[in-house]
Amino acid sequence: MKVVFASGNAGKVREVGDMLAPLEWTVIPQTALFDAEAEETGLTFVENALIKARFACAHTGLPAIGDDSGLEVAALGGAPGIYSSRFAGPDATDSSNIDKLLEALAGVPAGARQASFYCAMVFLRHAEDPTPIIALGRWNGEILEAPRGQGGFGYDPVFYVPSEGCSAAELPAARKHQLSHRAQALHSLVAQIRALQAQGLLPNG
Ligand code: IMP
Repeated sequence: MKVVFASGNAGKVREVGDMLAPLEWTVIPQTALFDAEAEETGLTFVENALIKARFACAHTGLPAIGDDSGLEVAALGGAPGIYSSRFAGPDATDSSNIDKLLEALAGVPAGARQASFYCAMVFLRHAEDPTPIIALGRWNGEILEAPRGQGGFGYDPVFYVPSEGCSAAELPAARKHQLSHRAQALHSLVAQIRALQAQGLLPNG
């Protein structure tokens, strides 16, 4: 079975392709099939993931997987949340987003800097699918006072992972891909898909 992944992000496409390999589906990035992006008008990660997947189904006539992710900081009432990629404004970069986050948390002591990365990953059989498969992942950590490490992307340099004793940007990529919010959501999505396959409700391969 061919499935569109509703993202052109090369890193994500590889990660999702690797994790879905046991399903023996062919995962095609949407950028290989059409050149347009869904408007993320949802107010939750789940809504935005559904919007992206539905858009990809509508453009291709194929089943699709969509995802949406971001950082929630407790001391900021959950911000930047679904606005994580644009926290510092429409032209935000990873480093301007990090600067804005550190400014917003200035004076907040260690112990009150808890944060979570969150990911929603959905599978739609077709654009009008009323029963999407929805999987969620959460990765808990703390926001550092200054960036550490060169790996990863986004907020990784300021996301401290207590269980590993380092920032997400200091973790080897393979380790991040075992622990992350995206990995957790993907595991859950694969488990749900396998359960439906076992019942004959989704095609194998
Ligand atoms: P999206 O899921 O591609 O819309 O990502 C939203 C934004 O959340 C990204 O631009 C990053 O700022 C942030 N983000 C999501 N996942 C991660 C991660 O694994 N590390 C660091 N930042 C992330």
